[in-house]
Amino acid sequence: MAKRSPGRREPRAAPPRRACGAMAAHMLLLERFPQFRANLMRLERATSKRREARFDLAAAPVVVIDTVVHVVHSRAAENISDAQIESQIAVLNADFRGANPDMKKVPAPWAGLASDARISFRLSKVTRTATKVAGFSTDDGVKSAAGGGIAPLDTATHLNLWVCPLSGGLLGYAQFPGGPPATDGVVINTLAFGTTGTAQAPFDLGRTATHEVGHYLNLRHIWGDTPDCSGGDGVADTPNCEGPNYGTPAWPTITCNNGPNGDMFMNYMDYVDDAAMFMFTAQQVLRMRTALETARPGLLAKPAARKRRKR
Ligand SMILES: [Zn+2]
Repeated sequence: MAKRSPGRREPRAAPPRRACGAMAAHMLLLERFPQFRANLMRLERATSKRREARFDLAAAPVVVIDTVVHVVHSRAAENISDAQIESQIAVLNADFRGANPDMKKVPAPWAGLASDARISFRLSKVTRTATKVAGFSTDDGVKSAAGGGIAPLDTATHLNLWVCPLSGGLLGYAQFPGGPPATDGVVINTLAFGTTGTAQAPFDLGRTATHEVGHYLNLRHIWGDTPDCSGGDGVADTPNCEGPNYGTPAWPTITCNNGPNGDMFMNYMDYVDDAAMFMFTAQQVLRMRTALETARPGLLAKPAARKRRKR
């Protein structure tokens, strides 16, 4: 809890390159919450089984995930507009439905892999909280009043998304499925949220949230979080690669003998700029759908009462 920096004035500029804190937060949680590892192993087994059963993705129903956005602000500008929040929901809806116009930039050898996850998002509530914390870290402080933020709402049935200032060049982080409810959800830097307002290039196309919701639905970084070719992301249709790619790389970029096509750096789970990432693969989608159905089933439950109220 010591990593917060109350009162410290940090420059409000987007970091030069992407950095995601999901794995750092994950390592801490694995120690603090022993059941988490067993939950993830169970989910991994369910994913393998699903893969062997040759799940027909095209026939899967479109899922609607109710989403709560918590705006936590230390400066007036960080209390972002409803329009900026809507712009982020729109990006999530495009990217998780394969409706993003830039998907056509996927190189020809992989065009058949770029997939519609058949997942959509519906904004159900926005909360706004003033804080004295100038920059949060991956310590989950933003997820409690005691830490300077606000507790999540109904994590079993809702995706919770905190938008706040983050320190140390972090763009965001997420909790994998099977972790403690009190900290479940996704955190996004105010400078990398949505496509308008406080969003700053090159992270102003809403892709930080796409990447972090990928983690929330059990996707790993495509290089496997090792500094060499030994790590994997548990997904067969993303080529093995050495490490993260940054900025806007030229295709192909070959590592780990993965020629001729090289790294799939245009995947949402790499570290490239927002404009350079535009696809999930079919096997990543299978992983996310399995996570939803086995580890986050409450997100799928849509009580009739809730529908009726909408009319
Ligand atoms: Zn990440």
